[in-house]
Amino acid sequence: MRKGMCMDLLKSAVQKMLEGQELLEVDPDTGMVIIPNGALGPLTDGIPLERILNTEEDLLGFYTPMASPGTITLCSQNLRAFFWHLVFQLSNNRRLPIMKADLASVADLVVSKTYHHEYFHFFCDIQRKLFPGSEYDFQIEEALAVAHSYACISRGRDNKSTKFGRMGNVIYPALMVEAFKYNSAGYRDWILYSDDIRFDAGLYNYISPPNSGLLQSNGINVSVLLRAQLDKIYSFGVLHSLI
Ligand SMILES: [Zn+2]
Repeated sequence: MRKGMCMDLLKSAVQKMLEGQELLEVDPDTGMVIIPNGALGPLTDGIPLERILNTEEDLLGFYTPMASPGTITLCSQNLRAFFWHLVFQLSNNRRLPIMKADLASVADLVVSKTYHHEYFHFFCDIQRKLFPGSEYDFQIEEALAVAHSYACISRGRDNKSTKFGRMGNVIYPALMVEAFKYNSAGYRDWILYSDDIRFDAGLYNYISPPNSGLLQSNGINVSVLLRAQLDKIYSFGVLHSLI
């Protein structure tokens, strides 16, 4: 699932997010991490979790549509704030056993989730260039982008040789619930597309290529065509930036 993703971008983003670990308390016996009183502010640069959850734009990353090549930008300060809020949620609020060694995987999941989301916007941009009748709809596109990102991480989880596949059975589901909480319109509707069948139908209806009805009635599975593109395009023709 990492094939084609820009590994340098992801690695730099993860490194930035992990800064500030000297502020943590680590239980010497268990290795469990606790964020001490007063440390959450500096770790998150004072950015409240609500700001990230309630926003109507992509604060963790964004996609700039093509005139020249499209660009996926990851926003390191907001990603870092989101990451430490998630760690706080799991370690301090829910008292789950987060070990220091888990932090890199949690950071990796947050960055990957954002990358896949922005990549989906890039994919839709390509579709609109291919099929000029295909119209942008903010809410549907955000919901599908979140669902795509969730599916990509879940597929990584199914493979035991990946970081997500090796994550603990307590941490992983708790982290996915926290990381995919969305309050704002569009984003929160991702659950409508949370399995392959509903995602494929949603993608088909959203992109709605011209003549898809005719193709479909002649036995061409247009959803599968779209899915094949979505899974294949990854590394081609998009620029990356970390701010
Ligand atoms: Zn988005």
